[in-house]
Amino acid sequence: MALSLSSPISALHGVGPAKEKAFARLGIVTVRDLLFHIPHGFEDRGRIRTLAEGIDGTPSSFILTVGTEPRTARIRAHMTLTKFRAFDESGSVEVVFFNQDYLKGTFRVGDVYRFTGKLSAQKRVYTLTAPKFDKVEDGVALPTLYPVYSLTEGLSMAQLRKWTSTALDACRHELVDYLPEEIRQKHGFPTVGQALCALHDPVDMKDVDGALRRFAFDEFFLYSLGMALSKQKGEGVCATPYPTPDSAPFLSKIPFPLTAAQSRVCGEIAASLRERSPMNRILVGDVGCGKTVCAAFAAYAVASGGGQCALMAPTEILARQHYEDMAPLFASLGFRTALLVGSTTKKEKESVYAALASGEISLVIGTHALLNEKIAFASLGLVITDEQHRFGVMQRAALREKHAGAHLLVMSATPIPRTLALVLYGDLAISRIDEMPPGRQKVKTYAVDESYLPRLYAFIEKQVSAGGQVYIVCPAIEQKPSEEEEADVLLSPPPPMKTVAEVKKTVSEALPSLSVGYLHGKMKAAEKKATMDAFASGALSVLVSTTVIEVGVNVPNATLMIVMDADRFGLAALHQLRGRVGRGKKESFCVLVSGTSSEEGRRRLETMSRTYDGYAVAEEDLRMRGPGDFLAPVAGEGVRQSGGLSFRFASLCRDTDLLSCAAEESRAIIDLSKKEAEAYRANHPALFDEVRARFAESQNLLS
Ligand code: ADP
Ligand code: MG
Repeated sequence: MALSLSSPISALHGVGPAKEKAFARLGIVTVRDLLFHIPHGFEDRGRIRTLAEGIDGTPSSFILTVGTEPRTARIRAHMTLTKFRAFDESGSVEVVFFNQDYLKGTFRVGDVYRFTGKLSAQKRVYTLTAPKFDKVEDGVALPTLYPVYSLTEGLSMAQLRKWTSTALDACRHELVDYLPEEIRQKHGFPTVGQALCALHDPVDMKDVDGALRRFAFDEFFLYSLGMALSKQKGEGVCATPYPTPDSAPFLSKIPFPLTAAQSRVCGEIAASLRERSPMNRILVGDVGCGKTVCAAFAAYAVASGGGQCALMAPTEILARQHYEDMAPLFASLGFRTALLVGSTTKKEKESVYAALASGEISLVIGTHALLNEKIAFASLGLVITDEQHRFGVMQRAALREKHAGAHLLVMSATPIPRTLALVLYGDLAISRIDEMPPGRQKVKTYAVDESYLPRLYAFIEKQVSAGGQVYIVCPAIEQKPSEEEEADVLLSPPPPMKTVAEVKKTVSEALPSLSVGYLHGKMKAAEKKATMDAFASGALSVLVSTTVIEVGVNVPNATLMIVMDADRFGLAALHQLRGRVGRGKKESFCVLVSGTSSEEGRRRLETMSRTYDGYAVAEEDLRMRGPGDFLAPVAGEGVRQSGGLSFRFASLCRDTDLLSCAAEESRAIIDLSKKEAEAYRANHPALFDEVRARFAESQNLLS
C-alpha cells in the first residue's frame, strides 16, 4: 500500500509493534505526525578543520585517512574499546570507540572518512572519542547538516532520520499548505512542504532558519486567529445594552477630575455597554494610573440602567479595599454595594444572596470565589475582574461561558508590551490608560547589597519620623511561599530567603520605638484585615509582608518600599511593588536589597533605578527573562490548558517582529465583513481546519 500522510506509522517498512509503541511515546501515530516531529537541533558536520586547528577542542569535522588496523580490547567487564590511528597533513590522532566491536570491519587502512567530534588531549596523545563518521568517496558530496530529533528508548537517531526521509519522499506532494498563499508570498515564507524538507533534509542554515520562522509565524498567526474566532463565537450571544448615564453625578462624587486618558477610556467602555453584543474589553495601564475609577464608572453605567455588576479581585485584601472605596461612592449615588469574601459569615452571605436575587444590590465585590458560588443575580449586566494577569485564556473563556450575556471588563496592572498584548488578549478589545494622574512623582529607586542594611534602618526611622510609612517585602513567609505568592517569585533554587518572621524580628529589634506589623498569605483573613487596617490607618509604621500587598493596595501615606532578596522577583513584579508607594504628595523611595553575586542579577536590579515607565520595565523583563512572568499564571495551568500558548517554534521575546506581522494578518481576517469572511472561509478551508485542530486540543471554543 502506498504511504500517505494518514497512514499509521506501522506502514513504514521496518516499524513493528515495538517501534510503534516507541513512536507513540513521542506522540507519533501517523506518518503525518512523523513529518511534524521537527528536529530540535542540527548537527553541523561542515566545519572542516585540520587536526592542528582542532586542538583547541571545539567541535569540528576532520577529513582523516585511516592509518592503522582497528584493534579491539576488553578493558573491563562489559566494556570493549576499539581504536586505530588516523591522520591528515597536519598530524595524527587516536580514534576510539566503546562497545562497538563491529566497527573493526568498517575502517580499513587507507580509507578516508569525515570524523566529527571534539579533540581531546591526554598526556600529549590526541584522541577523538566516539566521533560521528561518514565515508568520503570521490565525486560524492557529503551532506553537512544533520537533523537532531528528540528520541525515546527503542528509537535511534539513525532510524528516525531514515524513516523521516522515507516518509518525506513519499508524502511531500500530499502536504497542503494551510497558510493562505498571499500571506505566504508576502512574507517570503517557504511552503509547508519546503519548510519540512529544509528541516528534515537540511542543506544550509539559511533555509533552516526560514523554515523555523515560517512555523513560528504559523503559531502566532493561528493562535491569534483562534482567539479571535473564539471571541466571534460569543458574538451571537445577546447582552443587555445599557444607555450611557449622565456622568455629572458620578464626576461630582469622585475626589478628583478624570485625566484625559481616563475620560477616553470611560467613553470607550460606555460605547461598548450600549451595544447588544457583550463587551469583551481589557483595561491596561501602568500601576497607579487610575483604572479603578474607570471600572467604577462602568459599574455606575450598568447600575443606572437597572443592571447589576460583579467585581472580582484576586485577593481578599484587595476586594475589601475596593469595597471600602466604592461602597460610599455608590451609596451616595443611590446604589447598594455588598462584599462577599471567604470570611463573610454564612448569615451575611445569605442575606447578600437574597438581595442579589431580588436586585436590591447593584454592585457585589469579592474574590474570584464569587464566580464559583451559586449566586443568582436578578440581572447581572457586567463582570469586572481586577488584576486580570492572574487569569488565563481559559478562565476568561469560562467566565464568558458562565455569564454569557453579561459584559466583561478585565483590568490588568501588568504593563504588557504591546506586541505581547496583541497575542495574549487577541480575544479582547484593548483600552489603554497611558497617562498618570497629575502630580505623580517618580519613586527614587536604589539597588543595594546587604551591607547597606544598617543604613537602611536609619532611613526607615527618618521616613517614619517625617510622617511616612514603610513597606518591607520578602519573598517567603517561612520556607515555601503560598501559591498566590509563588507566581511572583522566581522559581530559582531557594537558599536562605529573608522570611517575613525573620525580618519582622530583626526590624523590631533594630527599631524598638517603631510599631512593626506583618502580613502573609497564610494568615487568617481576619488577621490580615486587622493588620492591613492598622497600616492603612497609620497605627503601624512598618509593614513586613510577602507579595500579598503587591496587587492594588493603596496607602497614600507610604513613602518607602524596601524589597528584600529583590533578585528573586521579576522586574514587572518589582515595578508593581514600587507602585505601592509614591501615591501621596510626599517624596517616595524604593530600595531593592539583594545579596546576589551574579552580574546579570545586579544589572537587572539596576535597570529599576533607571527605568520608571512600566512599559519600558516590562519590555526589559521580556528581553531579559522571556515571557514566563507574563504567562506565569497561564503556564502554571499546564500546556493543555494554556490555550495554545505553549509555542514550540515561536519565542515571544525573540520573534516580536513575526508577532506583529502575525497579529496584523489575523486582524485583517477578523476585520472582514460578515460576507467577506464567509467567502474567505470557503476559499481557505485548510486554514480554518488547522486553527481548529490546534485549538481543539486545549479548548472547546471553536465548535
Ligand atoms: P490602578 O490603575 O493601579 O488600579 P488606582 O485606580 O488604584 O490605580 O489609582 C491609584 C491612585 O490614584 C488612587 O489613589 C486614586 O484615587 C488616584 N487617582 C486615580 N485617578 C486620579 C486622577 N484622575 N487624579 C488624581 N488621582 C487619581
Ligand atoms: Mg488597581
